[in-house]
Amino acid sequence: MEPLRVLELYSGIGGMHQALRASGIPAEIVVAVDVNTVANDVYIHNFPTTPLWPKTIEGISLKEFNRLSFDMILMSPPCQPFTRIGRQGDISDPRTQSFLYILDILPRLAKLPKYLLVENVKGFETSSARNELIQTLEKCGFTYQEFLLSPTCLGIPNSRLRYFLIARLQSEHFPFQAPGKILTDFPSQEPADSKMSKGPEGWAEHSSPVPTQELASGYDNNGRQRPQKEGFLFKLETVEELERKQHADNDLSLQMLRKYLQDDVVEGLSQYFLPLKSLLRYAFLLDIVTPTCRRSTCFTKGYGHYIEGTGSVLQTAEDIQLESVFKSFEALSEDEKLMRLSTLKLRYFTPREIANLHGFPPEFSFPDKVTIKQCYRLLGNSLNVHVVAKLILILVG
Ligand code: SAH
Repeated sequence: MEPLRVLELYSGIGGMHQALRASGIPAEIVVAVDVNTVANDVYIHNFPTTPLWPKTIEGISLKEFNRLSFDMILMSPPCQPFTRIGRQGDISDPRTQSFLYILDILPRLAKLPKYLLVENVKGFETSSARNELIQTLEKCGFTYQEFLLSPTCLGIPNSRLRYFLIARLQSEHFPFQAPGKILTDFPSQEPADSKMSKGPEGWAEHSSPVPTQELASGYDNNGRQRPQKEGFLFKLETVEELERKQHADNDLSLQMLRKYLQDDVVEGLSQYFLPLKSLLRYAFLLDIVTPTCRRSTCFTKGYGHYIEGTGSVLQTAEDIQLESVFKSFEALSEDEKLMRLSTLKLRYFTPREIANLHGFPPEFSFPDKVTIKQCYRLLGNSLNVHVVAKLILILVG
């Protein structure tokens, strides 16, 4: 089989390229495109022989696209217009323009690609941009299937619920195709009806944090009173969240975090410990996990910088019980609180550890000049390599 000629749009640090490699299918990236200079440095560092165009996608003409003569497009358009936290500007957000440009170019290409894969955040599936994508695909004669998948589907202890679409240029349906439905797991051999999207329940990333004002109120975000005794509740945690965490930690189909961690002897690990002032201020907002946990929350680009909702932190003192630290906490003086919190030895996951959870291979690395904050930013925008590799295999099947 001739290697597939693949276009990697919005290439970032090359998550799609890693996934293509991991899929094992004979393929080459004919060009990667991204405007972010730091991301491009990382890309070139890891894929020095792949042509990379450091320009905007809107700046690529139809003629240039045609000259590339590609069989596949892998792309992760900017997700900010579709995130729950963002303003949901959708197609009116200037950051969606390049995606609409691609949709406009696609039907006019001299030769349509055989395969397409699109990745975006949860939320994209209800956007107008998604509707335009579907209309374009249907007009061009593609068969497609949409998914909402998290790495936990593959036993990886990290939540990262993402939208995916795979499409191929043929009228014959995928064997698992579920028209009008979004699949929430990888297709098995059986018909897909048992795996239809059931809506938001059950997805860790769906639970919205309770506003800080409600800290003392004793009510969760659905207005229910927090039970006082059942297990240990952080103040910002609903009973459902606590149960979900406990359930994940007991789910042996998920790996332990330990497998993804760097050794304690790694030089410079001390710089990842949480500063005392963040500890006091954000104690109740932290999602604390230990190496034996089988879950972690989605690492976003603000990780290591903003605390709330950007990703779990690691309790390295494994023998300390969280309950003992937070017991009668409010009654303590600041010094006592700090003393208790510091016994947990909380640290951020390192960029390498997040890359491990994302499925980046050991040989992946960042150039020295990239700062830790930049690493977190780039990884927060990137994707889970194993999830995408599996989708590529299904697509090319
Ligand atoms: N999948 C990538 C990350 C995608 S994030 C990875 O694995 O790292 C979206 C990327 O699109 C960002 O790197 C951003 O710089 C780039 N981008 C946004 N708008 C663009 C445009 N108009 N042209 C080219 N690149 C763009």
